[in-house]
Amino acid sequence: MLRFCAKSIPPWSMQLPIPSTRFDSMPRTLTLVYHRILPTQAKDRFALSSNVFTQHLRQLTRFEQATGISTRITFDDGCQGFADTAWPLLKACRREAMQFILPGLVGQAATWIENNPFPLLNWGTLKVLVDDGLRIGSHLMGHTHMKRLSLKALRYEADRSRTILQAQLGIEVQEVAVPYGYCSPDQAHALLDVGYNRVHLVYGPWFNPADYPEEVIPRMEMRGDRRFEHCLNLNQFATLDIGP
Ligand SMILES: [Zn+2]
Repeated sequence: MLRFCAKSIPPWSMQLPIPSTRFDSMPRTLTLVYHRILPTQAKDRFALSSNVFTQHLRQLTRFEQATGISTRITFDDGCQGFADTAWPLLKACRREAMQFILPGLVGQAATWIENNPFPLLNWGTLKVLVDDGLRIGSHLMGHTHMKRLSLKALRYEADRSRTILQAQLGIEVQEVAVPYGYCSPDQAHALLDVGYNRVHLVYGPWFNPADYPEEVIPRMEMRGDRRFEHCLNLNQFATLDIGP
């Protein structure tokens, strides 16, 4: 069996092919993004079964203990099933989480996914979850691809999304995650200009941290069709064992 050895962990720059000075040493926090946790596994690369998610939570704890790197769990879209599947599992292991919500589609459906417009959390359930400790960020309004938004339209949507979330839920919203995980450096600056203090993307080979403001977070995408190590881009750890 392969064993985890913190001393064998190479600098972060060796794990991710990022031409960056920001990741020249290991980050203290790694942010993950999940989408849907379902009671059973589905043929959906953005969905994990409850069992696999439970396994991830165990593996994350072992990873943190072995490396000293903390992990932050986020979810995009506000899938209705979150309240019954992921949230109880997160609470059971005292994990915090943030959901990025689309106020233009709350209580409706994921209309941007043609073959699977799954239902989205409504305001009542969101309020209950917020009172129970769930943190909320903005996913803008209606899941429009960033390539279709001018800077002016983006500023309007970003401001409107935050205003509605804050008014409906009685909270302060300071973080935003862009739909589809990608935005340009100019768009990231625009989101910070309207008052967000963190802009979440999804990490990919296209992402060059040197091009983006420091407040941009490249999240690791946790998918149902990939092993945990692969999602975290940790498969280069020769001695990795985060167990089942
Ligand atoms: Zn999304």
